[in-house]
Amino acid sequence: MTEAGTPAAGPLPERSTRPAPNLYNKLLALTGARLLVGTALLGATAWLTLGSGAEFVRSVEGLLYGIIASIYVASLISVFFLRAGRYLTFIGYAQMVGDIAAATGLVYLTGGAESIFTILYPLAIVNGAIGLSRKGANIAALCAAAAFLVLSIGSERGLIGQPVYLEHAAMPTPRLLLTLAANLSAFLLTAALAGYLADALVGARRQLKRAESELTALSALHESIVHSISSGILTIDSTQHITFINPAGEEICGRTFAQLRGKNLREDFPAFSDALSLGQLGRGETVFAHADLSERILGYSLAPLVDPGSPARPGFVVVFQDLSNLRRMEESVRRSDRLAAVGQLAAGLAHEIRNPLASMTGSIELLAGAPQLDANDRRLMKIVLRESERLELLVRDFLTFAKPKQVELARLSLSALVGELLEVFHPTALGAGLTVLREIDEPVFVRGDESLLRQLVWNLLRNAADATPSGGSVRVQVRTDKTEAHLIVQDSGAGISAADRGRIFEPFFTTKDGGSGLGLSIVQRTIEAHGGRVELESSPGRGSTFIVILPLSG
Ligand code: ADP
Repeated sequence: MTEAGTPAAGPLPERSTRPAPNLYNKLLALTGARLLVGTALLGATAWLTLGSGAEFVRSVEGLLYGIIASIYVASLISVFFLRAGRYLTFIGYAQMVGDIAAATGLVYLTGGAESIFTILYPLAIVNGAIGLSRKGANIAALCAAAAFLVLSIGSERGLIGQPVYLEHAAMPTPRLLLTLAANLSAFLLTAALAGYLADALVGARRQLKRAESELTALSALHESIVHSISSGILTIDSTQHITFINPAGEEICGRTFAQLRGKNLREDFPAFSDALSLGQLGRGETVFAHADLSERILGYSLAPLVDPGSPARPGFVVVFQDLSNLRRMEESVRRSDRLAAVGQLAAGLAHEIRNPLASMTGSIELLAGAPQLDANDRRLMKIVLRESERLELLVRDFLTFAKPKQVELARLSLSALVGELLEVFHPTALGAGLTVLREIDEPVFVRGDESLLRQLVWNLLRNAADATPSGGSVRVQVRTDKTEAHLIVQDSGAGISAADRGRIFEPFFTTKDGGSGLGLSIVQRTIEAHGGRVELESSPGRGSTFIVILPLSG
């Protein structure tokens, strides 16, 4: 169609010279109406000619059929052009002129200036206004006035021949003038009124269109905000059934809108549901079970949905974010701070202990050489020497922990490194009655510090062996997952209680007699230095699984 479109944005001009946007529809409707009128006229003419033998009917019969046929032909031509969607304005004017011509024909046949069919002129003017607004109404009024003037004056003053059955004496001039004035003013009034209404209609349509396009733009903006925002947005109705979740929300909770739609909030988001039931609107934080079974920390804000049009609450909206990484980082910073403080203390203490310890050990060694010592003295001195040695090792551990060596990263095969350490670990494990299972994918390369990674793997293997009673097993896996290397050390040992789980990576936390409690702190620090992370799955009596995740080296 060639209709004029409304611009999507920006102010519209006050008056448009283009045809009205729905000109096509209007012209089609007018053509339909005209066909109806033509058909009614045809019916009336047929009824008159068949049912009556009156003289005048027979003499106008041909002309009436001529007018009706012209209406049909004109309508067909209009429909043809309308379907092609072309020359709409031109068709509008052509239809208007056709209407006036048909009206003039009927008026001519039915009494000229005093014909009752002069009512058809105002109808033609209204049609002009419907199709072509005020301009159409004015032009139609002018054409109608001209046609009516020519016809009336012409036929009354003998310039145009009258149909035989109508021949009558010429109208006196005052009466003719009165008739002309009455009709012409009716035309002008109709044009003014119809033009005004048409303008008002066009204005209302334009406003509606503008409001519509503003509304469309606004809802597109809302939609794009809801879809682009990185926070999850979830809405529920007043009975706590989920009505919407945005893509970020789907991502955070690992469930799609299709899976959640219509479900009760309690099924997947019990914490939100509890907060709602207790009327705890506002901010909160909760642990959430992701679809992949991992635990996520969610920060959320609960608020009622507000519908300005209704006092009743249509439901609630929850805006939430995944704070797991943030909390992990905070915890890591806190731990680093604690480690730094403990490290400084340990280093100071270790230095202070080392010197007197060396003097003590030296003195005892000298004393042990004295010939007059009895067996009991020698036994006691051996104990002192053994414990001093243990103390010396502990002090060395503290110093390693307090002053970590510089990390030197290089591309290395994690599979080979773990394989070698398992060779060394095997005899120890066998001695303790343990089965060692190995599932090592080759090759898995990481960028790492070899000596630190050896220490890490060894600490995990030693802990697994310490925790597992004879007859148990230790399973070691190395594999890749997308961009990450996974080292998994799983034992069937005692497991770790929920209370201890939060503390085992703290320095000096140990449940073993003679343990330093530094092994896992060193593991944790090494992993952080490699840009990785560690995950732990454990429950008392069912063993523990330590998963060390390091970035792969390409
Ligand atoms: P240490 O081995 O000197 O105690 P770690 O830092 O290596 O120090 O370990 C701290 C604590 O964590 C251990 O004392 C033990 O309670 C617990 N732990 C570590 N690994 C395991 C494991 N595989 N199974 C059960 N408990 C473990």
